[in-house]
Amino acid sequence: MTDRILSPYSFKAQELQLISDRFVTHTDWSKSCFDGIKQAVKNDLRPKQGNLCCYCKWELGFDIKEVDIEHIVPKSEYSEYTFHPNNLSLSCPGCNTNKGTKPVLSVPITAYPTDGINVSIVHAHFDDYSQHIERHADAIYEGLSPKGRRTIKLCKLDRLKDVLKKMKDAKSKDTQIAQLVAELVQTKDTQRSDEIMLELSQLTEQFL
Ligand SMILES: [Zn+2]
Repeated sequence: MTDRILSPYSFKAQELQLISDRFVTHTDWSKSCFDGIKQAVKNDLRPKQGNLCCYCKWELGFDIKEVDIEHIVPKSEYSEYTFHPNNLSLSCPGCNTNKGTKPVLSVPITAYPTDGINVSIVHAHFDDYSQHIERHADAIYEGLSPKGRRTIKLCKLDRLKDVLKKMKDAKSKDTQIAQLVAELVQTKDTQRSDEIMLELSQLTEQFL
């Protein structure tokens, strides 16, 4: 598992120029002129994070809205760090949404931190994840430190237990459906066919 991002995104001169020309405050983040920069950040950080969300360590998706650029220190609180390389990491939309704009600094700052001491959650660039959070069976999160426990709370990582259960339920339902369909194709027993159709209708709620 990737423990932390070893090198941040490195902005190119023309990207820095664009930011300097077009960025005033954090709401400018959504301007389309920055789309190219955002894509470049995602492309750069994906392999550096092993394609995992920096908070829950679940795999990141590839469709739009399946990966977010996360501002570790909320950009609404410190808009000057909206494009700070060490403030950018990739997260799943679930973690990003739950974390929202909740404050993560223990004391206010005038310069971006260079280590994780003043940051109350696991900082993707400064902190080794495994020192703060241990993950069991993919979806049980154990906080090993105050930082780890706060990350679990802020991002609501406990939600993933339910997500995993739903995934497993859906998969077992899929398997049952596939088995029944295979049997239906083969059986010559009309009574059994009717039983299978009934079972399928119960499983899919759309037959009959
Ligand atoms: Zn996540």
